[in-house]
Amino acid sequence: MRGKFQPPTRAVVHADVRSARWTTVTVFGRIRRHAFTTPPFRHQPGTGGEFPDAPRAAAGRPRSALAAPSRQPPSPVQTGRMRTDLVSEPSELGFPNEDFVSVGLPASGLGGALVMLDGVTPPRGGTGCVHSVPWFTARLGGALTELSLSRRDLPLTEVLAGAIGRTAAAHADGCDLSHPRTPQATVVVARWDAETVEHLALADSVLLIERDGGEVTAHTDDRLARIPRERLRSAAVVDATLRNKEGGFWTAAADPRVAGRAVTGVVPRRGVRSLTALTDGAARWVEVFGRGGWADVVTLVRERGAAALVAEVRALEAADATARAFLGPSKTHDDATVAHLHL
Ligand SMILES: [Zn+2]
Repeated sequence: MRGKFQPPTRAVVHADVRSARWTTVTVFGRIRRHAFTTPPFRHQPGTGGEFPDAPRAAAGRPRSALAAPSRQPPSPVQTGRMRTDLVSEPSELGFPNEDFVSVGLPASGLGGALVMLDGVTPPRGGTGCVHSVPWFTARLGGALTELSLSRRDLPLTEVLAGAIGRTAAAHADGCDLSHPRTPQATVVVARWDAETVEHLALADSVLLIERDGGEVTAHTDDRLARIPRERLRSAAVVDATLRNKEGGFWTAAADPRVAGRAVTGVVPRRGVRSLTALTDGAARWVEVFGRGGWADVVTLVRERGAAALVAEVRALEAADATARAFLGPSKTHDDATVAHLHL
């Protein structure tokens, strides 16, 4: 499917949560911004109700308690300025961008959350689904954003399971969700508050956590990268033996149980300077072209901006388009998305 002309989307957001309690920026071909100055709600675990796996500890709480804004002062978390730099570019102008990124600040008044997806482009042939990959990433990314922000009481694996289930329900009637190529995506989620930074990765997008001293740790799910090349000889073989199969690799498709396969972790919030998430189209700067390591990527993005990283990748791709010394058989360009959050 070919979409209408889709320009690169870039956003640099400076959120001062002392005056704007909630700022959400979603990049999916267009930018949406919301800023409300209403008082924040206090976090009340287990009162969401709409979520099938929600804990019921507070089930007896009267609804009026939910409706009434707390008179307590705002949480001491995230009371200063926070800088967010986002860029998302389609592989080629005129093609639909299958990546998704969103940032919510603050999540339930406590810190924030980052969601990034890379929709998997299917080979020619059926997918069992009438919907496009961007339709899927918008649904899954939207649900992940909403649940990661509103349901802090749930671990990220349950948030992902809920978002996959909600998205599957949106096309269960009429689409064959058991098809191995039903729309699917890689997932990165990071969520933080005063105490911790939670992170989750499924498939090959990467989250870089930078500490105050400059050390950078890459959090990713490298199961696909560790599979011997000879086992990846064709899309049909991969689908039959590896894709969402035991011993293979896992993507967020239509089965909520895959959330249990995600690579997750928690690090102390204290000492974390920044978070940087990359889809593999942007991570090529390290993984394909070897221009530096993960710490070098963070430095580049901090000093020159997320757009500069993607521009460098595009220049490297163009320079190697004929010789293919680095690209090999890979497509020349890929959707590339970068989110840099200076906490
Ligand atoms: Zn469908």
